[in-house]
Amino acid sequence: MPYLSTRDRRQPPERVLFDAVLRDGLAHDGGLYLPAEWPVLSAADLTALRGKSYAEIALRVTTPFLDGIVAPAQWEKMIADSYAGFDDPEIAPLKALGDGFWLEELFHGPTLAFKDYALQLVGKLFEYVLEQRRARVTIIGATSGDTGSAAIAGCSGAELVDIFMLYPKGRISEVQRRQMTTVAAANVHAIAVDGNFDDCQDLVKAMFADLPFRRDLNLSAVNSINWARIMAQIVYYVAAAVALGAPERKLGFAVPTGNFGNVFACHVARRMGVPISEIVIATNRNDILTRFFETGRMSMGAVEASLSPSMDIQVASNFERFYFELKRGDAGAVAEGVAAFRKTGTLPVTEAEWREACNAFTAARVDDDGTLAEIKATHAATGIVLDPHSAIAVAAAKAKRRDPDLPMVAL
Ligand SMILES: *Cc1c(COP(=O)(O)O)cnc(C)c1O
Repeated sequence: MPYLSTRDRRQPPERVLFDAVLRDGLAHDGGLYLPAEWPVLSAADLTALRGKSYAEIALRVTTPFLDGIVAPAQWEKMIADSYAGFDDPEIAPLKALGDGFWLEELFHGPTLAFKDYALQLVGKLFEYVLEQRRARVTIIGATSGDTGSAAIAGCSGAELVDIFMLYPKGRISEVQRRQMTTVAAANVHAIAVDGNFDDCQDLVKAMFADLPFRRDLNLSAVNSINWARIMAQIVYYVAAAVALGAPERKLGFAVPTGNFGNVFACHVARRMGVPISEIVIATNRNDILTRFFETGRMSMGAVEASLSPSMDIQVASNFERFYFELKRGDAGAVAEGVAAFRKTGTLPVTEAEWREACNAFTAARVDDDGTLAEIKATHAATGIVLDPHSAIAVAAAKAKRRDPDLPMVAL
């Protein structure tokens, strides 16, 4: 399964293998990597996954993406090790909310952030690939809490990885500050920056833009632009679908969204053949995506703090992967579109492309009051206490579900 960059306009474009995709994170032309084609999960494949464990489903779903880089028995062991420490044997259990609504719980990993589901596996992949290549990497990232804690938990102690996480001093939760700063492993470096998340992000971008520095230290990224993370996230969509009756029965998902990574993983599951009837993009007041689906215009606004800080994002980097699809794989058009977005704050999208996007997704905005109201309503009805990000997904699911006869899963 070779990969292409969304911005590689050469004809034919370079075909990159999985280990380079993993190591680089971002393509050298600034684009994001995508598999050249989607592996297929047929109805028979889905049926065969019924009753299987999360690890078994992960093995089936992810293996076609690996280019044979990892030997099958080794990969099976890495998957088993990645999820062995999770505190629920189902790994991503489904909880009924009533009336056909479900909650897929993604907080059973070591740092409680859903990012553990991918980063546990990605940490192990890094170690394996680097050992094979006898190479070292330096992982650099900016975090408002979740990514940093989960990335550190995934990479601490890896001999060929140094990891540096920049976080805004005084602006992350105390639990996550401790998760990052009390790790004794010598390869882990958590750095408090006097500034906000964007200041951290700017420092990281500047390091990646310094090409000699990037090369000398083998800089690598583990934010959701890294394809390997998206790949690992496809698994829980397949697991939920199979548990709720796929391939015979369709289902919908509502996904709390920041960088569009998790939504894109859901879209990939659908592309692979999972019968997903609808995908609801759930945003908070930072609603660039929701405004796009409402109006056809993708224009940047200022980031405002909300009760769901992991979704306080205006530029949803992973949207570029879907944009590449809208542009029918025309990397030149993607590169120009993204450059225009940076310059003018608006992404060029034609009317036909917008309609196609609206067929693929719906979107809903839930503000802080709506978030609190949903936490209260779900608690009253079920006794479950939702975190604010999940509450946004549940509220969006309820607002947008098209077919009340199909199950709708909020993440
Ligand atoms: C990272 C994160 C998100 C946003 O996910 P994306 O893949 O960036 O869209 C939403 N909620 C929580 C709790 C997160 O940690």
